Amino acid sequence: MGTFVEVTSFDKKAASIVFAEVKRIENLLSKYNSESEVSRLNNIGKLTVSPETFYIIKKSKEFWQASNGAFDITVAPLVELWGFRDKKYYVPQEEEIKNTLNLVGSDKIILHDSDNMIEFETLGTKIDLGAIAKGYAVDCAVNKLKKAGIKSCLINAGGQIYCLGDKFGQPWKVAIQDPQKDGFIDYLELKNQAVATSGDYEQYFIKENKRYAHIFNPKTGYPAESDVISVTVIAPDGLTADALATAIFVLGKAKGTELAKKFSEVKVKIIEKNNVQNN
Ligand code: FAD
Ligand code: MG
Repeated sequence: MGTFVEVTSFDKKAASIVFAEVKRIENLLSKYNSESEVSRLNNIGKLTVSPETFYIIKKSKEFWQASNGAFDITVAPLVELWGFRDKKYYVPQEEEIKNTLNLVGSDKIILHDSDNMIEFETLGTKIDLGAIAKGYAVDCAVNKLKKAGIKSCLINAGGQIYCLGDKFGQPWKVAIQDPQKDGFIDYLELKNQAVATSGDYEQYFIKENKRYAHIFNPKTGYPAESDVISVTVIAPDGLTADALATAIFVLGKAKGTELAKKFSEVKVKIIEKNNVQNN
């Protein structure tokens, strides 16, 4: 998934179970694999997909609705236009952004529940599950671990974390990186919970002294710029944590905090410029 996956457990079977499950999800959902269901759907614009792919696209559309459009998997054409897909970064002209925005909007995703068919209303619309699929992959891995009877494990898939059970009777400790300097700003103590962090300090490029990061505001077509630099979401499952962290990053502190309140058992830690806010 273009990142590392780290597994900590006293059970020797845990790592191979997690790696196999993450690989399976990657094969299904990666836009970097031309054979994946997501790539085939993006190429054709209409495809009957597996129940799992249908589920994650349906959930994505629910987060789009709940976040008032801030979370939107149809940002794929914008991600490509700005060069984040191939890492050939580029600041587009206004006109190019305007044209690309015609392809963006999860209202253009039509879900046919009866036969798991996904259809795009507009030619050229594409989806990118980069903001939600790692969280889902972690959830799938946790289910497999539980089925294998493993009760204690920490999974870190490129910053998407799940703490299964505890560590010798103590909660797992997860540090939150300081986005502005080396070191940690805070740490969490967790059992049977997921954590995801979204920020603009790891994937970005600089052009003429301006920083452009990989999380987009689907309404403007530009990288999201709000009052936050990092959002950490603690949730019962990885999918929710992953999607909400991205959505709240786009919405900013006030609207993001309101969104989080719609979800039970969700906690948010927002780092503003030179400030930590606990909610
Ligand atoms: P998050 O905040 O969770 O997600 C940000 C990403 O979501 C952006 O990079 C963009 O792709 C998308 N996005 C941007 N704005 C929005 C928005 N408003 N709403 C919804 N989504 C948005 N990277 C590689 O370099 N090579 C690979 O082969 C590769 N394979 C991958 C396979 C899978 C299955 C997945 C899930 C990811 C893969 N990636 C790969 C990484 C991916 O492209 C992103 O870098 C990564 O998912 C970003 O995650 P994050 O936790 O940093 O940020
Ligand atoms: Mg995310």
